[in-house]
Amino acid sequence: MLDGKPSKLESALKDLDEVSKILDLPEDITNILRAPRRILAVTFPVKLDDGSIRVFEGFRVQHNLDRGPAKGGLRYHPEITLDEMKTLAMLMTWKCAVVKIPFGGAKGGVICDPSKMSMDELERLTRRYTTEVGIILGPEKDIPAPDVNTNPQVMAWIMDTYSMNVGYSVPEVVTGKPTDIGGSEGRFDATARGVVTTIEEACRTSGFKFEGATVAIQGAGNVGSNVAKLASDRGAKVVAVSDVMGGIYDPDGLNLWAVAARAMKTGSVTGTPGCDNISNEELLSLDVDILVPAAMGGAITMENVENIKAKILAEAANAPVTHDAERRLFEKGVFVIPDILCNAGGVTVSYFEWIQNIQSLLWSEQDVYRRLNDIMVAAFYRVLDIAQTRKINMRTASMFLAVERVSKAIKARGIYSG
Ligand code: NAD
Repeated sequence: MLDGKPSKLESALKDLDEVSKILDLPEDITNILRAPRRILAVTFPVKLDDGSIRVFEGFRVQHNLDRGPAKGGLRYHPEITLDEMKTLAMLMTWKCAVVKIPFGGAKGGVICDPSKMSMDELERLTRRYTTEVGIILGPEKDIPAPDVNTNPQVMAWIMDTYSMNVGYSVPEVVTGKPTDIGGSEGRFDATARGVVTTIEEACRTSGFKFEGATVAIQGAGNVGSNVAKLASDRGAKVVAVSDVMGGIYDPDGLNLWAVAARAMKTGSVTGTPGCDNISNEELLSLDVDILVPAAMGGAITMENVENIKAKILAEAANAPVTHDAERRLFEKGVFVIPDILCNAGGVTVSYFEWIQNIQSLLWSEQDVYRRLNDIMVAAFYRVLDIAQTRKINMRTASMFLAVERVSKAIKARGIYSG
């Protein structure tokens, strides 16, 4: 408990317990799912540019391996905790299961402040961390990907270090690599594509047209800016976007070229000519058809949930709506597309990258997009069917589907206990 509120790990476990009850899962299976399968904590020295040595602490947590190798991001941040890694690894298990890709969940992190480190220091840190956790990494064991403060370059260093240690090139040990060394076409906007696909299906289900629908997007980063572009390309009217500095609004629809140019020039979308400047809080309260929180967790809470006017809320960010607020949105009749479904496009194309690397194949961008669309649409309707049949919200339905798939894998394999 933190300040009387449950921690993220406690909330994630509560979700699991609730769904286990609906599924009538044996307690033994729930207990297996509650605990991470493997935790590796490492401390390792890195030589800094001034010649001094600093000891860093890192983790790799594998939550579940019953449906396939573990898959999950690697983040660099000063405030990483083991509990956070355990929570995020578990969410990756559910995300992979919802879209039915044959991976379990993992997450890794190093406690560091990359904004205060040089590229050379980051490279040495990455290579040493890779060697330390290398005993549990591998294309059949655990495949990292970019996350907060890590990127294709960091993935390239991981791939190279792992390959040097085994003596041959193993591109399939990480995803999100540069395309020069086996990264997949279509990875850069895969998450946004998945988000927009699920929104289009939600519109269809709710009986209104995506074309002409108004959209507000919180967070104009990788996901948010690509959602804006794709939504606009497909006929929706993007009326507001924001970043950490604030937001902009034009009821007639934003000129996305001007917005991108402004962000490129000043580092923020705020002040784009011809738009009203608004706060992030005002953006969330706009009277729009579709609201896309694509910035950070906990943006919508019981404090501001009553202000939400959108018909569809697409959780592009991870956990942008607190649990109580999500329940309230369901009561208000807002169609919420839960994060483990909505933003699963990224991990889906990571899976495509792994498949291509293993088979030495190179799929075209169109091939990647077509396959991604098929998977997202199938997952959306499977979750919707559960939600409608059981009269539960899309969040509970997506967890129901994920936990059911993982528990079936555990049951099929049997409990090996020596
Ligand atoms: P990013 O760092 O590229 O962009 C984040 C954006 O949010 C930036 O525009 C930033 O200015 C803005 N922002 C940060 N704090 C804010 C605040 N307090 N208020 C308003 N805006 C704020 O990140 P991203 O890759 O676009 O990821 C966005 C979210 O989507 C994260 O929650 C991430 O975990 C989730 N996600 C991303 C991917 C992916 O493939 N990138 C996949 C799954 C989930």
